[in-house]
Amino acid sequence: VGDSQAVDRQVDSVCPYCGVGCQLTYHLKDDAIAYVTGRDGPSNQNRLCVKGRFGFDYVRHPARLTMPLIRRPDAPKGLDVGFDPANPLTHFRQASWSEALDAAAGGLLTLKQQHGPQALAGFGSAKCTNEEAWLFQKLVRTGFGNNNVDHCTRLCHASSVAALMECLGSGAVTASFMQALEADVVILTGCNPAVNHPVAATYFKQAAKQGTEIIILDPRGQALDAYASLSVRFTPGADVALFNAILHVIVAEKRYNAAYIDAHTEGFEALKRNVDQSTPEAMSELCGVAPETIRDVARRYATAENAMIFWGMGVSQHTHGTDNARCLISLALACGHTGRAGTGLHPLRGQNNVQGASDAGLIPMVLPDYQPVGDAQLRAAFEALWQTPLPQTPGLTVVEVMNAIHAGEVRGMYILGENPAMSDPDLTHARAALGQLEHLVVQDIFFTETAQFADVILPASAWPEKEGTVTNTNRQVQLGRMALPLPGDAKPDGWIIAQIAERFGLRWHYPHPRDVFAEMRQGMASLNHISWERLQREGSVTYPCPDDDALGQDVVFSEAFPRAGGRARFSPAWPLPPDEALDEAYPTVLTTGRQLEHWHTGSMTRRSLVLDALEPAAVASLSPGELKRMGVSPGDTVTITTRRGAITLAARMDTQMPDGMVFVPFAYREAAANLLTNPALDPYGKIPEFKYAACRVTPAV
Ligand code: SF4
Repeated sequence: VGDSQAVDRQVDSVCPYCGVGCQLTYHLKDDAIAYVTGRDGPSNQNRLCVKGRFGFDYVRHPARLTMPLIRRPDAPKGLDVGFDPANPLTHFRQASWSEALDAAAGGLLTLKQQHGPQALAGFGSAKCTNEEAWLFQKLVRTGFGNNNVDHCTRLCHASSVAALMECLGSGAVTASFMQALEADVVILTGCNPAVNHPVAATYFKQAAKQGTEIIILDPRGQALDAYASLSVRFTPGADVALFNAILHVIVAEKRYNAAYIDAHTEGFEALKRNVDQSTPEAMSELCGVAPETIRDVARRYATAENAMIFWGMGVSQHTHGTDNARCLISLALACGHTGRAGTGLHPLRGQNNVQGASDAGLIPMVLPDYQPVGDAQLRAAFEALWQTPLPQTPGLTVVEVMNAIHAGEVRGMYILGENPAMSDPDLTHARAALGQLEHLVVQDIFFTETAQFADVILPASAWPEKEGTVTNTNRQVQLGRMALPLPGDAKPDGWIIAQIAERFGLRWHYPHPRDVFAEMRQGMASLNHISWERLQREGSVTYPCPDDDALGQDVVFSEAFPRAGGRARFSPAWPLPPDEALDEAYPTVLTTGRQLEHWHTGSMTRRSLVLDALEPAAVASLSPGELKRMGVSPGDTVTITTRRGAITLAARMDTQMPDGMVFVPFAYREAAANLLTNPALDPYGKIPEFKYAACRVTPAV
């Protein structure tokens, strides 16, 4: 904490990084953030992790985009084409806002006129506010004239949402992570909270110290193992085999909650039949867990008075990610562990506003609040609100858009605050698609890798430069406040979207983000009783909220589920292998993800001095056994090769890694992990299999 005498003002806001949604205060001196402290927010109680505390100097980084840019004629597009991000004027020329906006919108309009609405697509961002997400999806639906709008939820929890929508009728968490303090047993699976949701991890540690049994199910070890009653390593990709075996024990030993099942669910008989043959003995070889350990997990979870399940992208980022989540939901329903304090299902959401951006409709198959685009009655409500007919065909998802570009179907894109040239699977394919676009508009705060493919670049606002709401993993809608002026000629994201909309002939009038929020409340029942004034006053309100004065509901579905008949549904799943099998040429499992210090594709954290100093370069985490097998020492370079590409980077010894597996973070352009990853999709959530690719690790030559 810095010297409070040295600052001249303080502004309360929310952390821009992960879905925990920690509340914080910027301490400002001369229009710069001097330091940041945590506030007593409902999800952080004054705590912040290293990103929240030290990850702010990116805002004033000299590489910020400060003027609109238009690509010079004949300047080559893409990475490694003689482009120096520090000197964009070799490939772009400065333009006025009116010229840049005319060029941005004009190129998209021309493609729409020549090839029809389906020639266009847009990616919004989970780093933008709810109001910006609302405006962006409204522009695509009412201006572009299609539903080709998606964002990074497709790459993190789309499969979890698909399963939750199917089984419970709602895609959000059923209880906050603070409820772990009320639970007797907490299962953490496919997540690494100490790295990816650090302040949430402090609640799990606190719960463990109070006597909650923490059970960790994961192929890798992690820091929270030290707090766990039981930590079980299983074979990568064998989630369903393990979960079905646990369900088998619960059914065979009649440890399920028959009264709850009768009152609140449907389909239990089908689930029982499905797991009938999944004995621990039958599944043990497949999932790599001893039968007695499987029984132990099942008994601890089923006999707990109150128990919760938390999961992360280790569950969701598989071609069977939806099946994985279906099994976890079945576990909770079978044991009646929802709807009470200390019970529930909680996919730990990634980005700070991935929940809110999804709620606001940045999804190609649903309108805001998850209303299917194909439902004429539900669509009519938005047509009345926006006074225009809406497209009824579901749009393309993130990876499908890239495929459609290669097929010549999508020709123009508007990308706001996302970086698919780093975040998509099989980057060679994705970058080739971006290079093939006839017109690409990128709105961002930095020359991201994606911006290097753009025809027009629109300089936008960083989080501390804007006002708006975000919704965290706990369904808490929170207000972020503007603390800093915009640099140079950069503009607020909402203003830029509205300017593009105007050029599409849309007549919008939103003088302030609160006016957008007011319109959102007309279309989104989830925001009932959550007014802008309330958020200004209270800072955070959880949805759903029963009245204007009540606290929102931390735990939902006590009485009924939002499905026809009010019953949740069991959705059985059967073990399927990962898309790629290991073989002699590719004998090792590659898994990718984040580090504590770096966020997503690194565009912000790698430009933050402290965070970059802590983790300055890409590393491949390998077990001591793997290093020994290769004759490699920590710090030596290794090459990782998959069927799609190869990268070379330093090896790091990681005692939490199992043999036969390598972990690579995806934040580093110079060793881009996604050059290696598999674009095969889960058929329901359309999420790629980032957590399992067959690879070969060899000493670098
Ligand atoms: Fe920010 Fe997440 Fe860290 Fe909290 S836990 S400070 S929200 S990155």
